[in-house]
Amino acid sequence: MMGFPKTVLSLNPEITDELIVEQIRKLRFGPELENLKCPHCGSKNVHKYGKMHNRKYVQRYYCKNCEKTFNDLTGTILEKCRLTPRPLPVLHRKLLSLENSQRSSSRR
Ligand SMILES: [Zn+2]
Repeated sequence: MMGFPKTVLSLNPEITDELIVEQIRKLRFGPELENLKCPHCGSKNVHKYGKMHNRKYVQRYYCKNCEKTFNDLTGTILEKCRLTPRPLPVLHRKLLSLENSQRSSSRR
């Protein structure tokens, strides 16, 4: 599935948060989690560690090397975000336009 960003931008109602997180997981860690490694220490000595309690579609992992946990979204823009992923492309565009208007006003 290569059309990921485009389908998200169009906010297709069939694209669920679950699907988006699944795509992020595949992009980051590979379809079979073959690229899965700890974002804290880089170790591949990692195993699955249940799902997030408030977002069941987000897989958690435990690093046996540094004994820290992480999840599909650790280190991404979605990590600390309380919003579900779906509205984010819209927000991102709003933030960009805000940034642009601030830039142009600071030039004056
Ligand atoms: Zn680690």
